[in-house]
Amino acid sequence: MTGEVIRSADIDPSRLEVELTKSPKTIPPTNQLVFGRTFTDHMLTIPWNSQTGWGTPKIQPYAPLQLDPSSTVLHYAPTLFEGLKAYKGKDGVLRLFRPDKNMERMNRSAARLAFPTFTGENVTQLIKKLVEVDSKWVPSDPGTSLYIRPTMIGTQAGLGVGASTDVLLFVIASPVGPYYSTGFKPVKLYATTKDVRAWPGGTGGFKLGSNYAAGVVPQQQAAALGYQQILWLFGPEHRLTEVGTMNLWVALRKDDGGLELITPPLEDMILPGVTRDSVLALARDHASGKRKLAGLPDKFTVSERNLTMPELVEASRNGSLSEVFGSGTAAIVSCVDGIGYEGELVKVPCGEDGLGDVARVMLREIVGRQTGDIPSEWSFPVDA
Ligand SMILES: *Cc1c(COP(=O)(O)O)cnc(C)c1O
Repeated sequence: MTGEVIRSADIDPSRLEVELTKSPKTIPPTNQLVFGRTFTDHMLTIPWNSQTGWGTPKIQPYAPLQLDPSSTVLHYAPTLFEGLKAYKGKDGVLRLFRPDKNMERMNRSAARLAFPTFTGENVTQLIKKLVEVDSKWVPSDPGTSLYIRPTMIGTQAGLGVGASTDVLLFVIASPVGPYYSTGFKPVKLYATTKDVRAWPGGTGGFKLGSNYAAGVVPQQQAAALGYQQILWLFGPEHRLTEVGTMNLWVALRKDDGGLELITPPLEDMILPGVTRDSVLALARDHASGKRKLAGLPDKFTVSERNLTMPELVEASRNGSLSEVFGSGTAAIVSCVDGIGYEGELVKVPCGEDGLGDVARVMLREIVGRQTGDIPSEWSFPVDA
């Protein structure tokens, strides 16, 4: 024993062992699914130890984990997660949407927690295997998908605070019904001037479990006031940052009749959403003329810049505010029709179908690429 960390032992998909369940569960009809409550028959686990590196990947029956009560994850929250989806196209093909981006972000989160990193493609390959094994769980009705939750936790026994010597990477999957079963419903946001989600030098830009538990009380307080989501602000000038656990977008009408689509810059306070990156890429290609999108005005600019609540209030008053929406894997887009701020309700326009013009186009373009209707390098077929 040299005590040396074996950093070269990468995750090896060729070592995968598969143990199939002997008691498959009944798959509920999609209209009875509650988000994140039903899980497929199997899960993927890959252990890591500082002496031996990454161990054998296993697909095994979905079951509770066994953890020592002193495991670091239960005390100091060394835990991170990802969220991506598998979609069944009209052609029957199962596809992942941009899993390379999730793996890149997962490795960034892992490095932030002093966890081991890995070759993203190897885990994508194993996730494809899991989806294949549980393929009958992927629903096919429009708007449905299989939500995939990769997670890493520090499992070593012992109360010392330090780098984890044992880590478990596991992946579970949950079928989801159409996110909005009764059409798109706009949401009202409560812009909190008290609680702060993320700050410069903090961890808000990483998908760490520890970022989320503290957001529940503010969320409850917003709900008690009749708002569906929190609008997280930052700084004395009340900069807009994120909506609940979604990235934020604001569209402003310009004097020349065009639109400016704005999202705050990442810095280290904004979670780098895969949906955010996709909306930015589509919007920039439209703006540059590389790939025009029907439904968006010709005069269109895209800005990663900060916007403050006083600026938004003024835009709402003078009629230049066109729409506000959130973006994320769960709902793709979610439109906002009002923001509670300093005792007033700031009105935000929203189309009759519950979508603004930009959100409607982005939804169409992203769903098209998720289901394979629009051919795209963002689609990763599962059997390929
Ligand atoms: C996960 C998440 C998002 C959205 O990221 P996607 O990759 O688009 O799903 C946005 N904000 C926060 C705080 C998140 O945790």
